[in-house]
Amino acid sequence: MIKTCKHCNFEFNAKEKIRLRGGYINVCIDCHDELPDPDANTPVIRGVVAGSGKMAAISIVRFENEGDADAYVRSFNASSAWGSQKLNRCNSIPFKHVGTNIGSTNHKGKAG
Ligand SMILES: [Zn+2]
Repeated sequence: MIKTCKHCNFEFNAKEKIRLRGGYINVCIDCHDELPDPDANTPVIRGVVAGSGKMAAISIVRFENEGDADAYVRSFNASSAWGSQKLNRCNSIPFKHVGTNIGSTNHKGKAG
């Protein structure tokens, strides 16, 4: 059973891969080892971009699973697509805010 890896487009023996590693049939052994296993119960990190233009900020948010992460990003993107509405479903999804990377690097004026 030859499949093409969805990450690197490398053709590999999916049957052999599943036997050795499990996981997805469309991810080769190399990518399976390098990338986080989507089947494992690992925290899911997603970045979402808030704001617009040069004031854009990237929020890094950790979710309990990929389903929540997808729902959050969908909700987030959907709400920001409708202008500046802040009402969305984000607050109903459990997550931990890991960090925020504001576009501007220096809030305290010019250093040096
Ligand atoms: Zn691959």
